[in-house]
Amino acid sequence: MTLSVDSATLVTESAKRRGYFMIIQVNGLEEGFHRSIEHIIRLFFEEIQVTFEMDVDADIVIEFRLGGEKELRASACLTNTSTGQAYESAYMRVVSDRGDAKEWRKQAKQIISHPLLDVLERYTGIEQPWGILTGIRPTKLLHRKIRQNVSQEQAHQELREDFLIHESKIELMQQIADRQLAMVPDLYDLRHEVSLYIGIPFCPTKCAYCTFPAYAIGGKQGSVDSFLGGLHYEMREIGRWLKENHIGITTIYFGGGTPTSIAAEEMDMLYEEMYASFPNMDKVREITVEAGRPDTITPEKLAVLTKWNIDRISINPQSYIDETLKAIGRHHTVQETIDKFHLAREAGMNNINMDLIIGLPGEGVSEFEYTLKETEKLRPESVTVHTLSFKRASEMTRNKEKYRVATREEIGEMMKMAEDWTKTHDYVPYYLYRQKNILGNLENVGYAKPGQESLYNIMIMEEVQSIVGLGCGAASKWVDPVTGSISRFANPKEPKAYNDNYRHYTEAKIEALNKLFSFTRLDN
Ligand code: SF4
Repeated sequence: MTLSVDSATLVTESAKRRGYFMIIQVNGLEEGFHRSIEHIIRLFFEEIQVTFEMDVDADIVIEFRLGGEKELRASACLTNTSTGQAYESAYMRVVSDRGDAKEWRKQAKQIISHPLLDVLERYTGIEQPWGILTGIRPTKLLHRKIRQNVSQEQAHQELREDFLIHESKIELMQQIADRQLAMVPDLYDLRHEVSLYIGIPFCPTKCAYCTFPAYAIGGKQGSVDSFLGGLHYEMREIGRWLKENHIGITTIYFGGGTPTSIAAEEMDMLYEEMYASFPNMDKVREITVEAGRPDTITPEKLAVLTKWNIDRISINPQSYIDETLKAIGRHHTVQETIDKFHLAREAGMNNINMDLIIGLPGEGVSEFEYTLKETEKLRPESVTVHTLSFKRASEMTRNKEKYRVATREEIGEMMKMAEDWTKTHDYVPYYLYRQKNILGNLENVGYAKPGQESLYNIMIMEEVQSIVGLGCGAASKWVDPVTGSISRFANPKEPKAYNDNYRHYTEAKIEALNKLFSFTRLDN
């Protein structure tokens, strides 16, 4: 029997008594497997509690059995405790390279996930196009196989059989990996360079759905001045280290917040500092400045951007419906987005990205269709399609009664519309990432006209090199050039904490860089 995909209909009688909060109990697995199992369960249900405790009044019980040595067998039995309805599934695979405990566990997780996915898909009637893959960077998986010289046919087969990924998603991954390698042929050799992320934590107002470090700039000039003082210091110090250690910069990205929230003169001084502090600026492949909020764009600021050869900017409509913009606190109109886009074009900006969001409150298929039509008139060089719906903690999900929030099917339809629209208008997908803990198991996709892809987005998504984060809320990602292992380091999110501590954070980053690139000094 297949149930409706509306998750409300999956809620059992006792969960309804509890206020639609369903408890799913999982038995028979050791603790090391709990997290990955919970991730898969959460792909299917919205308001649930997953427990690994016994003696719980659960609505659904999933019982696992694991057996075998070299041939590992896993079975899962899902039972709805109110109706007695049960689904069973089993899967067996030979575990390769059992000598390595870490590798064994990794494969065991996959094997356990197979029967789990099967019983959940049959119980809910929901298919997961990404199969058992819950990571946020699927294309990394394909790149790993390409680097290991696995043939395309073999790689696809493994993605299909090991992860149960649907053919359409495998094709998307391949298309993206091909595009990335066409744009950055030395993608796998860039670990000896770094990219820089520079975070400016201010915006004209804070959007309702925002989770970035962004503070409304109005009346805070003192805080902006101190922040910029700290940022200039960081740029000088990190620049000095890069020069002394002969480490090149691949790309530079100004994000935030909205980096164009600060005054034109402040932007001018910042870019002057960038050219003065960083080594070999003529070899930097791309500089992006997010100008996401159209209400921050002025002719003076555009003149500063062109003066310093900023290659790429982002002007983000999110939606072309004025009521939606108002509801999400954007405080600018659709007309302003259009006017500022034309202003940027007239100023000579020839690589403009536009972010669109699927699933904004009150928006469904017809609104998104309108948004695509309007985007068509502007012809930006790239379009990034995000999906917003169903973020568990978001204001909008909590206020579902107030706003109409699209259903899972509508979101799927809109994503398909974006896919078809981009294809018709000669955009190609060039990066993607998935969102964890989001119902619907969705992805965000960056599309661009061939040759206009953002190289920084490729760097950050494929984790091929370290990203040094400067400024407020900027996260550094350290990719060890020898082992490829990844660790993170974050600057403070609050401007006050940043202003008080930026020297300490700069020192810590230099120490980390010294360790990371110590092998290059040994080589010399
Ligand atoms: S413009 Fe972007 S960074 Fe600023 S508040 Fe809105 S979503 Fe956040």
